[in-house]
Amino acid sequence: MRFSDIPGLTEIKQRLIRSAKGGKIAHAQLFMGREGALNLPLAIAYATYLHCAKRGEQDACGECPACTKNVKYIHPDTHFVFPISNVKGDKDEDRFRADIHKSWRRFLLEQPFGNLSDWTSSYGGEDKQAIISKDESREIIKTLSLKPFESPIKVMIIWQPEYMHPSAANGILKIVEEPPPSTFFLLVSNNPERLLPTTLSRTQQVIVPMLSDDELEQYLAGLPGLEEKKRTKIVIEAEGNLRLAQALIESDEEDHHERLAVWMRTCFKRDYPQMITMAEEFHEFDKLQQQALLHYTLTMMRETLLALSGADTILRSRNGEQKFVQDFSKVMTVNRIEKTNQLVTEASYHLERNGSAKMIFLDLSLNVSKVMNS
Ligand SMILES: [Zn+2]
Repeated sequence: MRFSDIPGLTEIKQRLIRSAKGGKIAHAQLFMGREGALNLPLAIAYATYLHCAKRGEQDACGECPACTKNVKYIHPDTHFVFPISNVKGDKDEDRFRADIHKSWRRFLLEQPFGNLSDWTSSYGGEDKQAIISKDESREIIKTLSLKPFESPIKVMIIWQPEYMHPSAANGILKIVEEPPPSTFFLLVSNNPERLLPTTLSRTQQVIVPMLSDDELEQYLAGLPGLEEKKRTKIVIEAEGNLRLAQALIESDEEDHHERLAVWMRTCFKRDYPQMITMAEEFHEFDKLQQQALLHYTLTMMRETLLALSGADTILRSRNGEQKFVQDFSKVMTVNRIEKTNQLVTEASYHLERNGSAKMIFLDLSLNVSKVMNS
């Protein structure tokens, strides 16, 4: 991963490059951004830049031995720590570590903009809570006690340190504060408020914003076969979240539209057997499709809200959607839409944290049904 592989964020890339060139690199930095921000790719691109033997003005060279290895995530002086679920089975510790690191490299190559749930699904751990175990602090200290193998420096990237076992988090405080020479910590967090205050105070913060609509638009314009109308719609829906934009490209909106119409009718009629059938159907979708459906639901709620307030719709919905919005605005009020939005947002949150999709969708249906009939 190099800076040029990441859309937009020009200003922050420039700031990182300047700090590296000026030799003023904080020894512990916290790349923080909301879910969907590109803070992990950015930290990786930064590590690649720090290791590069022929740094350019805008990016790492991409050709030196260090770059070649970092592109494949096999540079021996770029270390990764990340949450994993307990899926060890009967493997011994070393074997397990080797396998999980192989899965990690494959994940970074295949889903460079993926999130925690993409990661856990990629190795079959989606039903279990992923954490950074309490033994990990010892591993980090051990790894950093060795001299760098090939590079003058060492980089330790800790992804989602908020999932660290408290004793691991405490165990690395000292080394984060005073790392060995030429060692850099890059912590990458979506929920910095869940970190220990002592961890926060030891790091320099790098705030990674979501992509702007223009940046996302530009990125999507470079993809083949995406017509302008659909592109514009995705930019509005994705709100700067590249991963979500990718899911929206793949998802078939016509299907979601039909599905949402049937689903909402089911909730309105309090058709409980049908709610169960639909929850089972949604359970079979992959996670991106489930999230895309919830996101589409929020979009249509917003359209209905606009219709209720007499404003023009943003999406200039297609015929079927306009009809849905018209019918829906007859049974919904502003208050009901607000409540439903909250329920859908909560469901989306629980899905990301690997709850059972069937239970989440069934709960959601029951609660939405209650709201609609209140
Ligand atoms: Zn290079």
